[in-house]
This record gives sequence, C-alpha cells and structure tokens, in this order.
Amino acid sequence: MEIRVEGLVKHYRSEGRTVKALDRVDLHIPSRSIFTLLGPSGCGKTTLLRCIVGLETPDEGEIRIGDQLVWSRRQGIAVPTEKRGLGMVFQSYAIWPHMNVFDNVAYPLQVRGLPRAQVQQRTAAALRFVQLEGYGERPATRLSGGQQQRVALARALVAEPGVILFDEPLSNLDAKLREETRKELKRFLGTLGITAVYVTHDRVEALALSDTIAVMQAGRVVEVGTPRQIYFDAAHQFVADFIGRANLLPAIVREQGAGSTRVDCALGAIACAPRALPAGSAATLCLRPEFLQLHAQGASATGNVVHGRIESLAFVGDACEAEVRVGQALLLARTDPDTPLREGDAVSLSIEPAHCLLLAA
Ligand code: ATP
Repeated sequence: MEIRVEGLVKHYRSEGRTVKALDRVDLHIPSRSIFTLLGPSGCGKTTLLRCIVGLETPDEGEIRIGDQLVWSRRQGIAVPTEKRGLGMVFQSYAIWPHMNVFDNVAYPLQVRGLPRAQVQQRTAAALRFVQLEGYGERPATRLSGGQQQRVALARALVAEPGVILFDEPLSNLDAKLREETRKELKRFLGTLGITAVYVTHDRVEALALSDTIAVMQAGRVVEVGTPRQIYFDAAHQFVADFIGRANLLPAIVREQGAGSTRVDCALGAIACAPRALPAGSAATLCLRPEFLQLHAQGASATGNVVHGRIESLAFVGDACEAEVRVGQALLLARTDPDTPLREGDAVSLSIEPAHCLLLAA
C-alpha cells in the first residue's frame, strides 16, 4: 500500500512556546518498499510517523494510505488509528512482561475477538516467520533483546497490515546485535513485500536497510533518493554532510569541461563530477575520506593530485584515518590499516573527478 502526504503541518505548544515540528511536508511512500525517514534529533521524524499512524493530529494537510484518505483538515476527515490498517514497532519493544511470547503476539487478534483456532494458526505462522517457533510458552522477558524485537515484529505482522511503521526499533540493542537484527529485518521485510516506513537518525542503518531515504531537517523533507543517490549524489550540503563523513571545501566554479566541472578551491584547480552550475558561482566541494587515495610522495597517481603532509594518523581497525594538511585545508582520508605511512610524512593525495561532488553553496 502506498502512502501520500501533502502539505502536512504540525505545531506543538508547550510552556508558552510554539514549535513547528512539521513544515509543509509532501511525501510519496511507494508500496512494497522500505522507506526511511532520516534526520537529526528533533527534525520531525517521529511526529511525521505519528501523524501517519493517527497518534498525532496535524494542523493542516492530507494523508492518504492506499486509496483511503485518512486525514484531511479541509474535508474534516480523521480515521482512527485502528482503522488505518497499520502495524507498528517501537523503540521500546512494548512487550508485555506478564504474558508469554504466544500471548504477546496473539493479542491484536484476541482483542478483535477472532475465533480461537484462527488466532492459534495465525500466531503460530507469525512466530514461524520471525523464527521463534517453539518459543510460544516462554515468558517474554526471558528472551534476548533481539528476540524481543522479533516478538514485537511478529505482533505487528500478525494482523496482516498493509503498512508497517518502525520508530527507531533497534536503538536499544548493542552494536553487534543491532547489525544482525537489521539484516534479519531487511530479509523479513523483503520476503513479506509490504510497505515499511522506518524512522532512524542512524545513517548506516538507513543506508543498509532502505530502498528509499527521505532526509529531514527542521520539519521539512530536504531530499529523497535511493541510498546511493543520497550518498554519492546529494544536492544539498546538509544531506551530503549528514549521510556520511565528508571534507567540505568552499569552491568557485571555473568552467564546464569535457565530462567534468572544474573548480578552484583551497586545494587548487580540481576537476569534479559534472554539475550544471554557471562559471563564477560559489559551490561546496564534497570529498568522502574513503575516496582520497594516499601515496608516498613521488609515487604515480591519477585523477586530481595534490600534495601535503600527514598531521595525524589513527588506526581504527578496518582502516587508518589520516589528517592531511594541504595548504590551508586539513583533509580526512581513510587508508589501508597496514599502511607504511607515518605521521609527518610528505604524501600525494589523488582523487578521481567522479568522486569530487559539487554542491550548490
Ligand atoms: P528524535 O530523533 O530525537 O526522536 P525526531 O526527529 O523524531 O527526534 P520529533 O520527536 O518529531 O523529532 O520532534 C520534532 C520537534 O517537535 C522537536 O523540536 C521536539 O522537541 C518537538 N516536540 C515533539 N513532541 C512534542 C510534544 N509532545 N510537545 C512539545 N514539543 C514536542
């Protein structure tokens, strides 16, 4: 089921102040895909999710789920949460500690008064799906964090919703379990083929899990795209900076060349991936640390080549992170963990034009 949000506005009033949590949000969430709302704390992700679910009342705009208009100020429509056909998984798993696993999952069917045999069969199927078959009798609290999250997922799925919404569901898990559960969740959602709307402020989670990411800032959706589009080809500086580590340098567009846009910046003249920006305009050059190749000075290098000196070098396990002074600029570069280079070494840095992203200033 697809979701369409148009012109959504939501203010909160507390302690005499008014906060604009959503500022005219337009969004199309395609059906059968994982759609992530990503942004820093306070940008309005949860508010948007809660408006879609029906737990918050917007001030203006419209929300459609599938063919149904579920909220419209203009038309005076406000479909209650339980009639919107949605499943939800929260950050706190909201597992009921006094119930066993089976009863936790069966609850949404029991409150609807479904016949016992049907409850039994559908709950067993949901538990099988999240690979918790055989755990039904176990007290819900006697499960690991990852297993409890799967119980929450099974409970959201058991009512067979057209859309499932996740609000930071993995944030209570430790880093390793979080990664495992994320992979598992992606597999589950892929198998189910339903629409999933996922809220997170964790960029790696968003990149790894999503078909589409909407980046939010101060109550607005700034950019929407696939993970690769958002990471490699962002249009806005805020998005490029938020989605990954980046060296951002002010630049002036010099000319449009054959297959590249040439700029001047603190590194000198740099050939960049083509961007339709007029000569003379101000821009920001975005260089991802993993695409800066470090070489001992004198070694051959291709692409844009600049020269500098390593100011600091930190071993971080899967890489060495070097801060390289090039004139006025201090660039962060990631290189091999077993690099022979040392702090103080004179080095060349090469950067392919395709990995020099220009952003409108
Ligand atoms: P986080 O990642 O920290 O959960 P978020 O992006 O989900 O943040 P929201 O929780 O949607 O952001 O909040 C958006 C803005 O609205 C913030 O400025 C927040 O302080 C404010 N806000 C949210 N809920 C309320 C409320 N019940 N009363 C007053 N202000 C609120």
